[in-house]
Amino acid sequence: MNWRVKALWNLAEAFGVIRPVRDQTYPKDPNPEHWKTINGSHVHMDKNGNYDGGAGGKFNGRHHYGPNWRQKAALMNRLTAALHKGIKPQNVVPKATNQGNNGGKSRNGAIINTGKGQNPKPREPSSMGEWATELKKYGADVNFSKINDKVGMANAKEIYEVISENPKIANFINKYGVIVDAKPLGGAHGVTSYYLNPTFGKIRITLDQKSHDSIEAAEKRADLYEKSGFKMPCDKAHAPHYTESHELGHMIEAIVCYERLKNATWVTSKEFKQETNKIKREIIKCAKDIDPNTNFRNYKQYLSDYGKTNPREFFAECYANYRCGKANILGKAIGLWIERWNKNV
Ligand SMILES: [Zn+2]
Repeated sequence: MNWRVKALWNLAEAFGVIRPVRDQTYPKDPNPEHWKTINGSHVHMDKNGNYDGGAGGKFNGRHHYGPNWRQKAALMNRLTAALHKGIKPQNVVPKATNQGNNGGKSRNGAIINTGKGQNPKPREPSSMGEWATELKKYGADVNFSKINDKVGMANAKEIYEVISENPKIANFINKYGVIVDAKPLGGAHGVTSYYLNPTFGKIRITLDQKSHDSIEAAEKRADLYEKSGFKMPCDKAHAPHYTESHELGHMIEAIVCYERLKNATWVTSKEFKQETNKIKREIIKCAKDIDPNTNFRNYKQYLSDYGKTNPREFFAECYANYRCGKANILGKAIGLWIERWNKNV
């Protein structure tokens, strides 16, 4: 950052303009105090009474600026202009790792090389520390010290696979980084925060500590949620990382938007919302390509209730379904969509 960007940045932070978008999983926030109706829309508020990106996703940009939004919007425009001036695009070269150029095909491990021979025998990390080291090579800072070790390792593996198997995601994380951790979230299972411009700050995924304290609890929860239609179908073996997969879905959609909306800023976040709608339609089109019987009128029968909340949750839920071993037509569709996205350079 040059001095001009830095100065504006400090000003924007002081004004509270730079705030990340939060995509939070609200399993069932029963406290009516946390839900408010604004302009006819049901929205979720954080503990300070601020709209925090919960259900509906109807509000963006200036709508929840509150007082001084005009000044804030003007400040944001100046910051954006300065950022675009001050930051030169650079070619991104993936960091060298012992993963080499396998294109992410080694789904089942082959991660750590041991021995010194010509063809050292690879093995999968066997501790959280080893996973963190591997993930760091990709630019991901993962800290699961606060959750059950087995659950943490299942989630670390999921993050590893998602990043290493998707060239565009690997490139992005290599350049901008991502932070993943766990802490008590008080009711939510997970949350993903991101700014409307990747240079403003890192994408951050946080898992709820309590929801990730045992494999058995995760299995039970995934089963219950699937049966009630609240969440997408999930195989027992993948239950420990369902929330992570959902949150990684939010991360991926943010990366797609960064790529497509070169000038996306906080105040133009309407574009961001429109883009997520467009992506949703593209995914349903993929479902149609796989099975002509699926269309824009009947796709909802394959979608979880949570996925119906807004286009962002649609993406996250379809992605979780795709990653969790029981992909239905929407899970398969997002898989195809991601394949197409990775090819379209
Ligand atoms: Zn979500």
